[in-house]
Amino acid sequence: MAVVMMWAIRSSLDYNLAAKQIEGNGKIGPVAFSHPKILARFEEYRELVKAKAARNGIGRRDERCIADGNELLRFYCSTFMCDLGLNGSSSICNQQYCSICGIIKSGFSPKMDGIPTLSTSWRAHVAIPEDVEEEFKFMNVKRAMLVCRVVAGRVGSEGEEIDKEDGGFDSVIGRGEGSGAQTKVDDEELLVFNPRAVLPCFVIVYTV
Ligand SMILES: [Zn+2]
Repeated sequence: MAVVMMWAIRSSLDYNLAAKQIEGNGKIGPVAFSHPKILARFEEYRELVKAKAARNGIGRRDERCIADGNELLRFYCSTFMCDLGLNGSSSICNQQYCSICGIIKSGFSPKMDGIPTLSTSWRAHVAIPEDVEEEFKFMNVKRAMLVCRVVAGRVGSEGEEIDKEDGGFDSVIGRGEGSGAQTKVDDEELLVFNPRAVLPCFVIVYTV
């Protein structure tokens, strides 16, 4: 895997922390964007999660939620179609189907099944079909990895009883392959239901 370019979306983050988690030799470029609105929404959401946990929290797992909303660093892979990363370009485009640029510009969109955030860059990478670049070459489709801060809040696993009285869950551990009793829990995948809970912080443009 060759890293073409990596840069931070916000300046005040710990570069080293993310760089360490990225396979390959991530080169960190200049700070590209700031999106005060998305950051403000993220912080507002964290306060809601913290307040809810403080109100309802009784168990040990609520302690992190009360402290910082249970923030985690997670990976999300997607595609883009513009010149992002080309010759060091860090400007985002306005094309409707350029999904990386869309996320950076406006944040994530709500998804019925939750926004899948992965604990490793490899898992995030394989979440996108292997041949996507080949298949959509005519549209200049490429892939990039987003390193995101995620307010996970109280994490549940599917099948676990949801207790509405104590506020329920803010995110859910994914369900892996199989069905019914054969279903394996995929603890590398965390599904987040509120788009405000995910803040993209680093973009890594890479080639396979
Ligand atoms: Zn773009």
